Amino acid sequence: MSHEQASIARRVTRHLGAFTRWRLRRRGYRESKATDRWSAAELRAYHDRRLVELVRFAAARIPFYRDLYARAGVDVTRFGGAADLRGLPTIAKADLLEHGARMIRPGVRELWIVRHTTGGSTGTIATLVGPRGIAGREQGCIDALWERVGVRRGERIVTLRGALLQEGRALSHYDRAERRLTISTYHLNDENVPEIVSLIDDFRPAWLHVYPSAATLLANILRRTGRRLSGPLRGVLCGSEAVYPWQVELFAEVYGGRTYAHYGHGELALLGGWCENAQTCHFLPNHGYVELLDDQQQPIVAPDVSGEITGTGYLNRVMPLIRYRTADFGAWDQPGPCAACGRNHQRLARIDGRIQEYLTLADGTRFPATNINALHGMFFSLIYRFQFVQQKPGRAVLRFVPAVDLTPERLAEIRAAFAYLPALGLELEFQAVPEIPLTTGGKQRIVVTSEDLARV
Ligand SMILES: [Zn+2]
Repeated sequence: MSHEQASIARRVTRHLGAFTRWRLRRRGYRESKATDRWSAAELRAYHDRRLVELVRFAAARIPFYRDLYARAGVDVTRFGGAADLRGLPTIAKADLLEHGARMIRPGVRELWIVRHTTGGSTGTIATLVGPRGIAGREQGCIDALWERVGVRRGERIVTLRGALLQEGRALSHYDRAERRLTISTYHLNDENVPEIVSLIDDFRPAWLHVYPSAATLLANILRRTGRRLSGPLRGVLCGSEAVYPWQVELFAEVYGGRTYAHYGHGELALLGGWCENAQTCHFLPNHGYVELLDDQQQPIVAPDVSGEITGTGYLNRVMPLIRYRTADFGAWDQPGPCAACGRNHQRLARIDGRIQEYLTLADGTRFPATNINALHGMFFSLIYRFQFVQQKPGRAVLRFVPAVDLTPERLAEIRAAFAYLPALGLELEFQAVPEIPLTTGGKQRIVVTSEDLARV
């Protein structure tokens, strides 16, 4: 191939990629809207049909599942749907790492697949292979979720995430097709906040799309420096990390508008989001099927009992994930349709975040990091970030990056913000640190162990 032919081929591939992505985005949106108001009986029948189809497909076509089910003595011709899932072995990220190549459908053409790496937050990185355009289809599903709070196509969005742009040299990037300005928050501090504020103000976004930790960081700086975005913002769209109640309060105060959150993960097995009026996670039925498993990997059916979020994804037939344990934890909402919107989707009352996102109290109780409320006092105006390091039950070190000179009075304020924790059974030691490292995905974890720190 001549140089010129190669260049034309590259351009054609790029345009085909953009077209495929657009087409699949429309499809993800349409599928999400079509299943939005189905009855409980319709949804049950739908999941049973999709699960039977997927499990038999995987057993017939994917070497990894063929062997896995043979070893477990599973007869997939007798598999009848959701009620039979408990008879299938579960899989986890370790399987992606060890058996990734054997989980891909043999004979699939390289031109039609994409590879992307997932999961910096648990310290292990795996490669997920999916059909070309899968990210577009996922975005179409997110479009349908965002529409619940009034996000319209073509509205301007500023993305605040831990993105490294041009290996950290650029502060922002504008995507004209998406009308989206991405700002890297890696180097967000008091010094460059004026530049970031004017970037956002000049762009006049309707929405911020954020990692909650990144939006918290910016909110802290705005509060401390007495600045505001000129706004008005229609709201803050959260993704990729658990959203804590104190963050919802903080965003309402600093940014205004409404806060919305969706839950997804890098392996794309599940996607859910809040409804119009309730902060519970409604999972899109067309995206996948949810189970919650206890530590013996038995299904949890009762509400309010925490279990590992386990997903079977419908979007990816190149590298299907069946009963994939996400290492995220959550608890079912009350049974029946959502009281706020009437949808019959599978619904979690809360998502507790990653397995490590608990503090363990002196009596062994696991205290979800979602319950930490540090908004009292002026804590947030004094720091950039905070993180708990816990080695043993009942004790933790609260590390924080101070944003101001730490006078004894200010340290006392920081202590006061967490004064309720010793009473619950957690003694805290306070430690000012120059930096709190983010995961490779640019996210921030609230609770870590010292082994986690050594891995970063
Ligand atoms: Zn609802």
